[in-house]
Amino acid sequence: MTTGSALLLELPKVELHCHLEGSMSSATVKALAARHQPDWSWVWNGDIPEHFSFDDFPDFGRQYLFGLSLLRNADDIATITDDLAASLAQQNVRHVELTTTAYSHIEVGNMAPEEYRDGLDEGRRRAAARGVNIGWVIDIPRDLETPDSQVTIDFLESSRTPDGLIGIGLGGYEVGFPAAPYAEHFARGRALGLHSIPHAGETEGADSVRQAVDDLGAERIGHGVRVLEDPVLVEQLVESGVFCEVCPTSNLLLGVVDTLDEHPLTRMIDAGLNVCLNTDDPGWFDTDLMTELQIGTDLGLRVEDHVRLQRDAVRASFAPADVKRLLAEQLDVFERAHC
Ligand SMILES: [Zn+2]
Repeated sequence: MTTGSALLLELPKVELHCHLEGSMSSATVKALAARHQPDWSWVWNGDIPEHFSFDDFPDFGRQYLFGLSLLRNADDIATITDDLAASLAQQNVRHVELTTTAYSHIEVGNMAPEEYRDGLDEGRRRAAARGVNIGWVIDIPRDLETPDSQVTIDFLESSRTPDGLIGIGLGGYEVGFPAAPYAEHFARGRALGLHSIPHAGETEGADSVRQAVDDLGAERIGHGVRVLEDPVLVEQLVESGVFCEVCPTSNLLLGVVDTLDEHPLTRMIDAGLNVCLNTDDPGWFDTDLMTELQIGTDLGLRVEDHVRLQRDAVRASFAPADVKRLLAEQLDVFERAHC
């Protein structure tokens, strides 16, 4: 069975690792720039480019910061959520777990927590009208928010959280910013009923994944691709069912792998790990879920493998039961027709 893109487009899909603030396409950035008339000469010469690319991590950071600077009110937040939902709906993605960084808006951007919450709620309503269910993960940016800061956890413990909040995450650059100091924050988040979904094993090795599991109670790992460096830990993740959210294009562009050909996706699957494919920052990385699935195909996945990965992702998701049931039924129909 071939895995042509038309067939994969038809496949009902979920995405579990995507950052709202990383999802802004060039068209969205241009629309927000027209709204706010900022100076972008410190980021690009001339016009905002049609497609984003970057020379190195600082260059990426500059563009990302410029995107964040355009998010000033609830309507901006709702706009970028809806733009992403439109793209997801076109790709037949019916449930997405979107990470958003409250600290960037409330602390760095000085947005009132209620304004931020209202934007997320409105964006989620617009996405639902497109047939896309959103679950929010609010992450602590480890390279920005020090462990003694209470900004994110205070927001999570307030009465101003958005509808559809499912998890607490840990994002940002791992090197030099270990997970263990955030154990208390995660304990408090889990006490609120939130799921533990930290990034680990991306820019740091297997030890970082072990910390995420042991100290933060991780139920899923953002990335986790470097877990293969420790066969004992691989076995532990396989047995405990901790799931890895794999993002190949992100890994390539941020230098985790040198080429897509050597991406560890299929080695992770062969080792028995539960994984799914994701975009991470689709706007900035100029990718989408269909592109990531095609990369999976290029690495050797057959259509039945894609169906299995979607089933695993639905199971590992924190979608409401009715959304999970509908997706399982749609995957059954697809499998009967195409496998
Ligand atoms: Zn990420």
